Amino acid sequence: MRKPFVAGNWKMNKTAAEARALVSEMLPGLRAVETVERVICPPFTALSTVAELLAGGPVGLGAQNMHWEASGAFTGEVAPAMVKEFCQYVILGHSERRAYFGETDQTVNRRLKAALAAGLTPIVCVGETLQENESGQTYKVVSGQVRGGLEGLSVEEVGRLVIAYEPVWAIGTGRAASGSDANAVVDGIIRPTLQEVFGNAAADAMRVLYGGSVTGANAAEFFQMPGIDGALVGGASLKPADFVKIVQAAA
Ligand code: PEP
Repeated sequence: MRKPFVAGNWKMNKTAAEARALVSEMLPGLRAVETVERVICPPFTALSTVAELLAGGPVGLGAQNMHWEASGAFTGEVAPAMVKEFCQYVILGHSERRAYFGETDQTVNRRLKAALAAGLTPIVCVGETLQENESGQTYKVVSGQVRGGLEGLSVEEVGRLVIAYEPVWAIGTGRAASGSDANAVVDGIIRPTLQEVFGNAAADAMRVLYGGSVTGANAAEFFQMPGIDGALVGGASLKPADFVKIVQAAA
């Protein structure tokens, strides 16, 4: 059985002081849902503050990106050990990083290997744009991102990550995919690709999340799907009642 997983991606929102207030508000509700692996991913500058609030508790902490080098002349970057000091998880290859900051499958792959070596659980994002979807390229794009992003990993390493299927056209738009369309990509593209490259057991064991305009009102539609094991939540993860509702729906 794959344990349900819900992560909140706060994106570039909340100062450390605001993060403290937000986490304090949602923490009791999140703590109560024990059967779901739940994770909060605030900006780097709030990680230390949020780590203090989550310390010793069941709610995990993640960063939203990470560089692959251990240290050195990389102004503005954050190293794996710096993330690991506070976090257990890291989001990699988010479509906003691919679209605005030049992220490619090759750089995702380098970050992924470094994250695994640091003992972090990576949440690797894949997903097609609207144009790619409408021109029938979803299989090629998503399968290519899975192959390229995970290239060179051992089966053991693949067992330590989570994949988030996030169609770009559904992120932050209020236009979520339907549960069955999302499931068709997860079980029709992502798991078969994993199966081909890493074998049946790795594909079956992989937790695959859906992300893209998930709310407390539509979350259950995704979690009912046989291939979808949880959600990566953006906007709604900044609303305590909504985020707790999503986590509850995954239980
Ligand atoms: C995200 O940022 O990963 C995301 C899915 O955003 P939203 O839930 O706001 O669409």
